[in-house]
Amino acid sequence: MRAAGLWRGVQGIATGRVRPPATRRQRAWAELSEEIRSCRRCPLGAHRTHAVVYRGSLAPRIVFVGEAPGAEEDRTGLPFVGRAGRRLDDATHRLGLEDDEFGVLNVLKCRPPANRFVRAAATTCRPFLDRQLALLRPAAVVTLGTSALHALDPGAPPILTAAGRPRPSTDPPLFPLVHPAALRSHRLYRRWDDDLRALGAWLAERPSKRL
Ligand code: SF4
Repeated sequence: MRAAGLWRGVQGIATGRVRPPATRRQRAWAELSEEIRSCRRCPLGAHRTHAVVYRGSLAPRIVFVGEAPGAEEDRTGLPFVGRAGRRLDDATHRLGLEDDEFGVLNVLKCRPPANRFVRAAATTCRPFLDRQLALLRPAAVVTLGTSALHALDPGAPPILTAAGRPRPSTDPPLFPLVHPAALRSHRLYRRWDDDLRALGAWLAERPSKRL
């Protein structure tokens, strides 16, 4: 409920339906969100229903970064609201994260055809991700899946090797997980559980406030 409220606040700020934002950072966020929603810089913009910007706190301790919107996200304009989103919500609950401690976004803001990650579009879209992270300034980033990991840490090994351990020397600190939509076997569910426990232990050692 609280996350929905926070998101409504963000949406309202971006669309001007609520009081003007109080700080320069909030104004910059609202302008950036509007820029993303009206973007047509790559071919994906012509086929989307909604560009998918963000959901969550504007002062997050942790930002989860996924790959691209799926059908449900394209329909609603919100990231991680389908089955994978429910798994992610369960994960944040198990990690003990309050709604105002985290946010969720994707590398690509528009849904790619057949839900395939489009590397050329990701290059065009990438400045939006960098600007979002610069404004949100999380203490840590958790990537979900191969494409999100390699977008932020191109030298990382394949996801099944990298997941469950913090990456060395990234700024902000980065912890990769497999994508929650990829959990299609008992083996991967067990891996997801183990990696969540490792993430919880890692987060316990991180600063509780954003940088
Ligand atoms: S995917 Fe990114 S660059 Fe392409 S149209 Fe959407 S917002 Fe713009």
